[in-house]
Amino acid sequence: MSDKVIPNPQLTKREFLRFCGTSFCMLSATCLFGFPQTSRAQMAKKGLIKTRISPYFTPLGGGEIQCELCPHRCRVAKGKRGLCRVRENRDGKYYSLVYGNPCAVHLDPIEKKPFSHVLPGTTSFSLATAGCNFQCKFCQNWEISQAFPEDIYSYEVPPELMVKRAKEIGARSIAYTYVEPTIFYEYMLDICHLTKKAGLLNVTHSNGFINPTPLKNLCKVLDAANIDLKGFTENFYRELCSGELSPVLETLKTLKKEKVHVEITNLVIPTKNDETSVLKEMCLWIKKELGADTPIHFSRFYPLYKLKTLPPTPVSTLDKAREAALSAGLEYVYIGNAPGHEAESTFCPKCKKMIIQRTGYMVGEINVKAGRCRYCGKPIPGIWA
Ligand code: SF4
Repeated sequence: MSDKVIPNPQLTKREFLRFCGTSFCMLSATCLFGFPQTSRAQMAKKGLIKTRISPYFTPLGGGEIQCELCPHRCRVAKGKRGLCRVRENRDGKYYSLVYGNPCAVHLDPIEKKPFSHVLPGTTSFSLATAGCNFQCKFCQNWEISQAFPEDIYSYEVPPELMVKRAKEIGARSIAYTYVEPTIFYEYMLDICHLTKKAGLLNVTHSNGFINPTPLKNLCKVLDAANIDLKGFTENFYRELCSGELSPVLETLKTLKKEKVHVEITNLVIPTKNDETSVLKEMCLWIKKELGADTPIHFSRFYPLYKLKTLPPTPVSTLDKAREAALSAGLEYVYIGNAPGHEAESTFCPKCKKMIIQRTGYMVGEINVKAGRCRYCGKPIPGIWA
């Protein structure tokens, strides 16, 4: 499951939109920034609030520039924007249009990112700006990911305030999520440095579509990443996401090499990426390149955005995906977005006992002690304290 505002599948579109809007608004304005009498209209603003020059571009001559942040490497003429809609060429210099202007700020369970091996049972201060470098037809946050920043309500939250409130409210981590965080890279990186000083973790849920140099800089301050491996063919990425698979695989390898804790999410979409043989091939790649102990979350798809005519993923399909992953040798295989499924919990691959019990985002007994299974002593990968 991508990190999203969870809709009840029985909600109408109107109810869902109202739910999203209310959720973003209440948690941002009234709860998280401590202005109980302040309405959304008073706190949030439409239009471009602030801009910040980006160091991640190369001048090409004649005022044209090339963005260096993600593999799209947009060539942008004067006065135009890149594909993600939040970076603009102004007189031959490239500007981020969303620095310090999140449109979504939530206090979420870390399980919602989803992370199953990072401080279970804690909360993560989670944020996003408008924009994305993918255009997934199944995007669950399309209202913000496919928006121009001037068209939606955003808040003015400098990095210092973000970290201060995260700490005050008792979050153990800050999460860069909901859309692709690469598109607000400068803002994310500045928050990351302050977060480390404050003793919190930096975690991200990302599509992994980022260039190697900015990724390596980010790895210096990033503790954990959940990467969407949306499919395992270039065709899937091209047709359904307007992206590419190979840079995502490179990102996964780099994160592992740089010792960032990695978990993977695969949203299983009926008829699009649910072929067992391809899922098995993907899992064998994960085992070979990242290790058998890399947690993977198979997430249930619900019809949304441009794929409304497809049915929700049958739970039996998720079970088959899980069986394929276990038979490929992966040790921690989860099923998400199917509350009550046994595979929400963590099982020790050695003694097979349940070591972290979960129902939805609720965490029960935790039997991981000092990073090991309490029953048999097997080391369990992750961040536990
Ligand atoms: S970050 Fe945005 S502007 Fe830069 S290359 Fe990617 S899509 Fe293009």
